[in-house]
Amino acid sequence: MELYVHIPFCVRKCDYCDFLSFPGFGCGADEKHRSLSCHYTDALCTELKGIMTVLKDEGIGCDTCFIGGGTPSVLDLSETEKLLKVISEGIAPKEFTVECNPGTLNIDKLKMYKDYGVNRLSLGLQSADNGILKALGRIHTFEQFRESYRLAESVGFDDINVDLISSVPGQNMANWKDTLEKVTELSPKHISAYSLILEGGTPLYKRYEEDPDSLKLPDEDEEREIYHYTKEYLEKQDYYRYEISNYAKKGFECRHNIGYWTGEEYIGAGLGAASYLSYKNALKLKAAAVKTDDENSMLRIKNTDDMEFYTASPADCAVTEEVLGKIEQMSEYCILGLRMTKGISVTGFSSRYGTDIMAKYKDIIEKYIQMGLLEKDGDFIRFTERGRDVSNTVLCEFL
Ligand code: SF4
Repeated sequence: MELYVHIPFCVRKCDYCDFLSFPGFGCGADEKHRSLSCHYTDALCTELKGIMTVLKDEGIGCDTCFIGGGTPSVLDLSETEKLLKVISEGIAPKEFTVECNPGTLNIDKLKMYKDYGVNRLSLGLQSADNGILKALGRIHTFEQFRESYRLAESVGFDDINVDLISSVPGQNMANWKDTLEKVTELSPKHISAYSLILEGGTPLYKRYEEDPDSLKLPDEDEEREIYHYTKEYLEKQDYYRYEISNYAKKGFECRHNIGYWTGEEYIGAGLGAASYLSYKNALKLKAAAVKTDDENSMLRIKNTDDMEFYTASPADCAVTEEVLGKIEQMSEYCILGLRMTKGISVTGFSSRYGTDIMAKYKDIIEKYIQMGLLEKDGDFIRFTERGRDVSNTVLCEFL
């Protein structure tokens, strides 16, 4: 089991972001925002206490915890302490990550994270080019990021992820190369490098609708070039790509995300947080949301994204969004598993579903192996390098 905790607050809203997060928080927030942040933390702790009681009573362990957002590091010291106390009294995750943004960290907060067992930080940088950061509406410069990074190291954090986004307005190979060089100089243990997706409703999308050329987005060929360069460059620096967009030094892969890609159960707490639970565990952890009697199903359950409703009833605000039968579970297992460089384990699949993957998806797998897009290596089926470039077409066939 994994635990995800959502903090839906940010200092300001980045121009490309459609995550569930609200601006106006952090130091400098007005009274209204400070009060909401305090009220929300209390509600979140109420929900978490309920979850912790069930986990303890049922002997369910949590291997990982990820506090994400939003920007969890905008919570002030007393809110941070309340939250970490509830979590650490209930579980002792092997990997405990907090997502942070430069400009929202200080030494006291970092020490508090450490004291409560946080052993991994994920820092949002996105680009080392200050012009690009400004165009994306980020609140920090590269220099401020580097300062936060050094501060985290000085407190003893050595497992740090740096988030980057490629294919953003104004980006070219030269400034992307510079970003990779500046980041790898710091030697973080993990780097996530996603491509920008223009999400409807964001300020960036509106600018794109009004005048697509004004954004100067890289075209598809440039995107591929950036993608291949990233892999090549990072591999030379001893990072290996273990998932389409994620790179790590050996032994520092993100266990929490690997859990998502390998079909682990997770419980989400906080506004809009999603859970993926077996019927049996859903009955224990999100009983009111369970609307099926299929004992073999997996349930995708989501907390409300209505702040007023959440803060009024944090322990009873979830609904089942999807019930996955065995066929859907198998299909999802393949689609998510193939995101990983090592691919899907044949024996893992059969022990989980009691079915041979080579028989279940025989036609698809054989077709793409013959085309050189998939390969079988020992127990694993995975994409070839060429297959990765057209992965969406292949994945659609598992639906
Ligand atoms: S900091 Fe992250 S969550 Fe907050 S607005 Fe920017 S991209 Fe969105």
